[in-house]
Amino acid sequence: MAGVVVNNYGSLPVTFESGKGAVLCDIHGKKYIDFVAGIGVNCLGHGHEALVQAIRDQAQKAIHVSNYYLSDKGCAFIEKLLRITRMEHAYFGNSGAEANEAAIKLARKYGWLQSGSPEGTAKRHVIVTLERSFHGRTLASLSATGQDKFHPPAFAPYPQGFRTIKAGDYAALDSLDETVCALFLECVQGEGGVHVIDPAWAKAACAAATKAGALVVVDEVQTGVGRTGTFLASEQFGIEPDVVTLAKGLAGGVPAGVCLFRGRARDVFVAGDHQSTFAGNPLVCAAGLAVLDELCKDGFFARVKTLGEAIKSQIAAWNIPCVTEVRGMGLMIGIDVDGARMKQPKNAADIQKLCLDYRLDGSGENYGGAGLCVSTAGENTLRFLPPLVITGKEVDAGLKIFKQVLSAL
Ligand code: PLP
Repeated sequence: MAGVVVNNYGSLPVTFESGKGAVLCDIHGKKYIDFVAGIGVNCLGHGHEALVQAIRDQAQKAIHVSNYYLSDKGCAFIEKLLRITRMEHAYFGNSGAEANEAAIKLARKYGWLQSGSPEGTAKRHVIVTLERSFHGRTLASLSATGQDKFHPPAFAPYPQGFRTIKAGDYAALDSLDETVCALFLECVQGEGGVHVIDPAWAKAACAAATKAGALVVVDEVQTGVGRTGTFLASEQFGIEPDVVTLAKGLAGGVPAGVCLFRGRARDVFVAGDHQSTFAGNPLVCAAGLAVLDELCKDGFFARVKTLGEAIKSQIAAWNIPCVTEVRGMGLMIGIDVDGARMKQPKNAADIQKLCLDYRLDGSGENYGGAGLCVSTAGENTLRFLPPLVITGKEVDAGLKIFKQVLSAL
């Protein structure tokens, strides 16, 4: 796509052709251990038989029928998703940003209803989000995002009525008052550097929001669908959100996003409030069902947790001087590096490129010649989001490359 697609991704110089499990193959036949999974999307890896079969079967039946109608796969998928998450209603979108956009609209309408349906902007309209958060690239989800670097003046004016507090700041919870319609949280701030927020503070923040009459919205776009070792990360934080947004892994790579709600948030949206042409079509939902079926198999989440812990402790045990911290939950892992502790300072993006260009010694059986795909989350943080089905052998090969790259710095 070089030269054809606008280069707003700063794409790396590799062109992929195919993949199997957690191994990608480029157009020259070079293999890569995939610790990125399309930024946490390919939860079942590449070429997963049940997922491919579900997509193939559904494509032959009906790909899209529009939301004028229901579809059998749409109903089956949403029923199953609501059962797993213990939520009550769902709005379909096509991405994480759209799921959050729906949550923002829902929160605003909730505040408007609570304020007694006034003319103009309701008193209860403020959305509070966290510093270091990321909620998407549409204008409203950018306003919700608590990182200045995502608010360049070129795109101003941004939608108003958003403010941030710092995760862990108990005093800031006093600012949750009758003007606030929702508190947005990420349990693990992925794009913000893979920072796990303190569960005790998260609980206190949710209690304060509820007490103030505001909704609790948990953005599980990156943490959800098993990524942290439970279907929703919020399960491990002991919090019960009114609204949950999901996307990324939801349909294993077919674009999907959902905004789920319950309780006070359950009946806020009525016909016509929010819509999308493509969202939740039968093809997406057939893929989503295949994902849910795999994730619900016995021991799936326990394996994600065990594997994540093993990866973190292995990296820490290497004692490589430039690695200053390893953190995360499940298969969502952040590794901080410090350029000042290297022979020649390198940042996370430089290391990402070194891993990609790497050629592992050994035979094809042992992934000889392979490179490694890793992602970054900020200037000095490398991030692993491998397929949840990655095998031990694939993990070993990927870590071998990572260790050799880091050791040479
Ligand atoms: N919310 C979170 C927590 C995310 O990590 C992301 C993407 O990385 C988004 C929202 C936006 O999702 P999408 O890129 O699918 O719009």
